Amino acid sequence: MATAADIVESARKAGRTVLTELESKDLLRSLGIPTTQMKLAVSGEEAVALSKEIGFPCVLKVSSHDITHKSDAGGVKVGLKDEAEVAEAYRDITASCRAKYPDAAIEGVTVQDMAKPGLEVIVGMATDPQFGPVMMFGLGGVWVELLKDVSFKIVPLSKGDAAKALREIRAAKLLDGFRGSQPVDRAALEDILLRVSEFAAATPAVKEMDLNPIFAYPDGAMAVDARVILGE
Ligand code: ADP
Ligand code: MG
Repeated sequence: MATAADIVESARKAGRTVLTELESKDLLRSLGIPTTQMKLAVSGEEAVALSKEIGFPCVLKVSSHDITHKSDAGGVKVGLKDEAEVAEAYRDITASCRAKYPDAAIEGVTVQDMAKPGLEVIVGMATDPQFGPVMMFGLGGVWVELLKDVSFKIVPLSKGDAAKALREIRAAKLLDGFRGSQPVDRAALEDILLRVSEFAAATPAVKEMDLNPIFAYPDGAMAVDARVILGE
C-alpha cells in the first residue's frame, strides 16, 4: 500500500494541488481512517463489472481533478440496486458532468460500496495564516451550511482537545443520541481528528483536508467523501 507521503509526492510531481477522492481516501486509509471501498471504472462495462465485485447497493461518482463539488455537477448516484442501474448511472454521470464542465478532464467514474446511514459529521483541516494548521469539527449536511455549528482546534491536538472539539459544538447533544437514536462512537471520531492532526503536523505540504461527510455510527465511523489540497 502507498504511504500518505507517496500519494502527496506523486500528485506534486504531476503538478497537481487537488487530490481526487480516490487518492484522498487512499491517503486516509494509510493513516488508519476507515473509508468506503472504491475502484475506478473508465467505461460503463467496467463500472458494471466492478459493481458486481463490490456488491449492491453501490454508489457511482465522477472522478475528475477539475470537479470538486461532484453532486453539483450531477456526478453522484447512490443506492444503485442492480447492473442496469449502474449502467444507466454511468451514462447519466458522464453526460451531466460533460455538459456542466465541458473543459474538465474526466478520468472515469468510481464505484463504491454504499455506506449504511449514520449521523453525518465533518472533520476538516485548514491552514490559518496566523495559527498554522487548524482542525475543524462539526455536524455535516445542512447543519454545517445552515448553522455554521463547528469548533476549531489548533494542530497538534491533544486527546483532550479532540474530546473538547466534539463537546463544543452547539448541537453536541445530537452525538449522544436524539429521539431514540443511539449515541455515536465519540472515540472513533476523536481518533479521526487525532490522526488527521498528526498527519497535518508532519506534512506541511498539505494545506487543506475535508472529510465531508463522515458517517458516525454507534460503533465506529467511516469517511464517505474526502478531499485533500496541497499548497502551491
Ligand atoms: P460532493 O463532492 O458533492 O461533496 P459526496 O461524495 O460528498 O459528493 O456525495 C454526496 C452525498 O452522497 C454525501 O454527502 C452522502 O450523503 C452521499 N454519499 C456519497 N457517497 C456515498 C457512499 N459511498 N455511501 C453512502 N452515501 C454516500
Ligand atoms: Mg462531500
